[in-house]
Amino acid sequence: MEYKKYIRRMPLCLECGNQIRYGRTDKKFCCEDCKNKHHNAQAKAGRSYRNKVIAILNRNYEVLEQMLREGIDSADLVDLASLGFAPGIVTSYRHIGKHDVFTCYDIKYIMTKSRIYSLMKIKNLSVNLQIGMELKDQ
Ligand SMILES: [Zn+2]
Repeated sequence: MEYKKYIRRMPLCLECGNQIRYGRTDKKFCCEDCKNKHHNAQAKAGRSYRNKVIAILNRNYEVLEQMLREGIDSADLVDLASLGFAPGIVTSYRHIGKHDVFTCYDIKYIMTKSRIYSLMKIKNLSVNLQIGMELKDQ
């Protein structure tokens, strides 16, 4: 007897894990509450992630701004890391000539595998915002 083929495989609710007993086989949630809970949690996770990235960018900016205040235009990534600088979080990147040019808001610098250098404030900001990552000024 091949009765197995008559047993409908019931999907599980992505939120509560209960079997979804009614509706289309591609339903993802058992009820509206679970659907809303799930989407709210996803939106919250997205906001939380964005806020973390912004916090890292702000920390990076503080480190870079402090360097500029002290007249330092290059530093070792190891030293920067000890100050909380996260080199992988930037506001723009562009490969110009042989250099990898990064920005953290209005501060730009060239970064290699071991250090950053040519640290400077971008002067004509309005132009740069209009053309996105183009950094032809200076
Ligand atoms: Zn559910």
